[in-house]
Amino acid sequence: MTDVAYVETQARSALNRVQGMPFDWSLNPFVSCAHKCRYCFARAYHARYHDRDVGEGFDRQVDVKANFPDVLRNELRRKRDGSVAIGTATDPYQPIEGKYRLTRRCLEALVDYPMPTSIITKGPLVVRDIDLLKKLDEETDLTVFFSVPCVDEEVVRKTDPGTAPPRQRLRALRMLREAGIDAAVLCMPVLPGISDSEQSLDAAARAASEAGATAFRHRLLKVDPEIQQYYRDFLASEFAAVLPKYEALYQGTAHPAKDYEREIDERVRRVRARYEFRERPPRPARPPAPETVQLQLAI
Ligand code: SF4
Repeated sequence: MTDVAYVETQARSALNRVQGMPFDWSLNPFVSCAHKCRYCFARAYHARYHDRDVGEGFDRQVDVKANFPDVLRNELRRKRDGSVAIGTATDPYQPIEGKYRLTRRCLEALVDYPMPTSIITKGPLVVRDIDLLKKLDEETDLTVFFSVPCVDEEVVRKTDPGTAPPRQRLRALRMLREAGIDAAVLCMPVLPGISDSEQSLDAAARAASEAGATAFRHRLLKVDPEIQQYYRDFLASEFAAVLPKYEALYQGTAHPAKDYEREIDERVRRVRARYEFRERPPRPARPPAPETVQLQLAI
């Protein structure tokens, strides 16, 4: 944490409307992310919308939106349509959350004004909030997604240099499952030449299954124009042998060749079929909200 500057800022809004995603709103209590994943798509987002350098500009400064939970609470009082995802452009459980507790206070607001929620994280700190997650889970649909693209710790030290090792993320996932919370693994992004082998995907799927993950989903690396040179430089310094394969697959675009995409989809289907990912059984129907009962009685 020491080489990262934390800057307190004030948020004007909290819920951010999104299009074309499986959720309607996103919530990001921080700007940038001390986890410093080399492939992070949010590097491009921060360059585009926060005028921040995609390399050290992203890694070295995290803005902490100090009033974010209060802004969220005010917004939730007024609008609560649709579903929300926490942590789409930053990790809501990166180390500084231990001090500021912004994500925790957002969960408190959501417990009071529930809407279907998903959380995306690599931070084992999420177990601190099991008490609130259980309360929220009683009120609405909740899934915690752990991002575990690879379980080889040597690789992860290079690709995700600021994160907890994958085994700690999976230990946290197990604790959530033991508390009855829906928790799944996102094997994302699959990195060509680095974590796309059958062996690597199989190890990730097996570890996820053993931890009790309710699902195992994957997606291939997307390299937006803003980060293409940055990602090339990273490969050249840490995985030089992989660079020609990457260049051939992406050819200067954001997505890899379709044939390769199909090949990886098939590979993941194969490994997923070897292990058990048991969906959480449906919960009993929740009793109707008091205002609904009153309305029915009035009719
Ligand atoms: S944890 Fe997520 S948001 Fe943070 S750097 Fe890694 S990929 Fe980006």
